[in-house]
Amino acid sequence: MTHRGRFAPSPTGRLHLGNLRSALLGWLWARASGGEFLLRIEDLDPDRSKAEFTDALFQDLEWLGLDWDGPVWRQSQRREVYDEALAQLAKSGRAYPCWCSRAEVARAASAPHVGEEGPVYPGTCRDGASPKPGRQPSWRFRVEPGVVRVVDALHGELVQDVAQEIGDFVIRRIDGVASYQLAVVVDDALSGVNHVLRGEDLLSSTPRQVLLQRALGYPTPQYAHVPLLLQGDGKRLAKRDGASTVAGLRALGWSPERVVGQLAGWSGLGDGTPVKARELVPGFSLERVRREPTVVPT
Ligand code: GLU
Repeated sequence: MTHRGRFAPSPTGRLHLGNLRSALLGWLWARASGGEFLLRIEDLDPDRSKAEFTDALFQDLEWLGLDWDGPVWRQSQRREVYDEALAQLAKSGRAYPCWCSRAEVARAASAPHVGEEGPVYPGTCRDGASPKPGRQPSWRFRVEPGVVRVVDALHGELVQDVAQEIGDFVIRRIDGVASYQLAVVVDDALSGVNHVLRGEDLLSSTPRQVLLQRALGYPTPQYAHVPLLLQGDGKRLAKRDGASTVAGLRALGWSPERVVGQLAGWSGLGDGTPVKARELVPGFSLERVRREPTVVPT
């Protein structure tokens, strides 16, 4: 089976070094395996996504020497596809409308396990609830109790207890927009992606995505979650902090080779010497990638 990977940035800011490292490593993994690499713009959130950031990310990737295969997928143009997936889940009883507000969920959750996704949903609307006048529902995925196991190429096995750590999660938001979890699962499957390399911040979302894949009859890709780049204060680099972006580095006179060499060095793939991305392809193997986070000097 041909390796097919992807980079799936959200155009909510300029790409920073952490995003670029995921792009570089995902690209190297695909190219070193003789595979394909797709680019998907995760611009589902109309309030946060900006066309100028999409334009900039094409330029940034090209500047770094990373290419991609086939047409670019844009989530903002694929709403009907997510609606179909939701309809399929609703038909099989795996999705239901939820009339709770975020505050109500937070109040009702006893001993909440609060992860990136917020507290575990206490199941208020699970067995049917009357519509609230003047409000739209969100839609939730109905989970079944048990444990979900995912094998990650860098982290080994991850196990989550479905009822305790996941709960019924939102797959369509109140504003009608598909959730990240649903869109990512549908798009990875329909574009034939079989290798997903991304930042470790998404590791805890992966079991949710695996549950959705199973409910929709999709295969589970091979996952590799790479450690994050951290700022000196231990927080992860984030677009909103204006952390080191290509634009910023270019303004400081950095060449693409210097950026790639630095990213490779932080990843355990070299000593930081400037290098072209394609020169790293022959020596690349995922096993060589560092498993510890890197603190980026500022
Ligand atoms: N769009 C997500 C982000 O930029 C990445 C999604 C993924 O790789 O699954 O953080």
